[in-house]
Order: sequence, then C-alpha cells, then structure tokens
Amino acid sequence: MTTLCECSPAAGSATCELNAPQRQTASCPTCGSSGKRVDLQTVKALVAISLRQIQASSFWFCRSQHCPVVYFAADNGQTLTIDQIRERVYQKEPERPDVLVCYCFQHRVGDIQQASPEERAALIADIKAGIAADQCACDIRNPQGSCCLGNVQQVAKRVELT
Ligand SMILES: [Zn+2]
Repeated sequence: MTTLCECSPAAGSATCELNAPQRQTASCPTCGSSGKRVDLQTVKALVAISLRQIQASSFWFCRSQHCPVVYFAADNGQTLTIDQIRERVYQKEPERPDVLVCYCFQHRVGDIQQASPEERAALIADIKAGIAADQCACDIRNPQGSCCLGNVQQVAKRVELT
C-alpha cells in the first residue's frame, strides 16, 4: 500500500515522492545520483539568474550533499548550481546551524539542534499546523519543491542519536 502525502498543493504535493510511485528517474550529470522531479515553477522561484537562461522545461533536484548541482535538466543537460540559487540549500549543508530546513516557517537547522525535546516536538507540531492551515508555499520557497517535514524529522533524529 502506498501512503499518500497529505500535504496541500502549496506544500508541493504534486512533486512529493509519496504521490509519484511510478515516477521517471534521471541522474545528475555531475554526480550521477538519481534526482527528484521538481516543478518548473520551483526552479523559476528559486534561481538567482535571469529566467531567460532557463532553457529546459523539466528539472530535477540533486540531493547529494557534496555535489554543487541543485537542479538539472534531463533533456538538454542544463545544470543550476548552488551559487545560482537564491537560498542556501539544506541538502547541501545539512549540518550548518544557520541554514534553513523549513523555508516556509523559517526554522533553521540550529533551531532544531538547540531545542529541548519538548521544544522540538512543539516546533514540528507548529509546522504541521501551518501545513494544515495552508500557510505553506514549499513549491516556491523550499529548493526541493516539496514539504520539509521529512528533513526536519531527520535533523531531530540526528540530534536525538547524539
Ligand atoms: Zn549531483
């Protein structure tokens, strides 16, 4: 059974992996790892370059930490690297305290690392409440183009294991 993403379209449900069980795959031309499909709208919202330079119509997000490519196009090979993106990207700097992990409600990695277990639970509950109230816009604010909850929980888990 597939668990469907319960997020709204504004939370990027259209490109959430949970909703796309038979998605195509594409590999990053720089590091070779498989990318995650993102909406063109996400790329347009997040790049720091002229949109005249966006030549492809479909892009993928490279999640590899040590790869400078954030978005790549499978059809024409265009790549957009970290220096061409308006935000610092959580997946590229997952341990940096000053990097955002929740781009809609502005929670940084360090906020989660420094919180007490109770504060962490409250922070996650607040993100969920914001999603439920349709206050998020992950598709245009989060470089991965979809909801941050999985990443937030990943940061929380890393803290709890140390
Ligand atoms: Zn890559």
